[in-house]
Amino acid sequence: MKLAGMWKDAIDGLVRKPVTERYPFVRLDAPPRLRGQLHWDSTECTGCQLCSKDCPADAIEVITIDKKAKQFVFRYHVDRCTFCAQCVVSCNKNCLSMSSDEWELAGLSRGPMTLTFGDEEHVAAVLAQRADPDAEPAGSE
Ligand code: SF4
Ligand code: SF4
Repeated sequence: MKLAGMWKDAIDGLVRKPVTERYPFVRLDAPPRLRGQLHWDSTECTGCQLCSKDCPADAIEVITIDKKAKQFVFRYHVDRCTFCAQCVVSCNKNCLSMSSDEWELAGLSRGPMTLTFGDEEHVAAVLAQRADPDAEPAGSE
């Protein structure tokens, strides 16, 4: 009796469609509420620093280039982020959102895990200053 049951299970297993997905060959849509990579929309940003202050993982830097002109550079350390969404809640200008589509964030080194957003010229100045701390500061944090 037991042997018959085992044979039945074995044959069922051979003909049944696998329950697992063939990721990464088949990529399913993630649930819309999934918290993936953080995005910054600079349009309304006031540089208030609330997002950075409230981040429990020290994953955000807001670098002020020119406060009056509302020019900022936003740095996001993906490798520190816990995807808690506190920054999204803290920003009263709705500048921050978390992508439900960009969630494949693993990497082999930490360098590419820091994303820098802002005007191209400002980003270049901030990165140059980080590479050479004796260089002219790009702004104040
Ligand atoms: S909380 Fe919002 S407005 Fe304030 S610095 Fe962060 S992104 Fe900009
Ligand atoms: S999601 Fe959480 S950990 Fe990630 S940057 Fe925002 S506040 Fe920090």
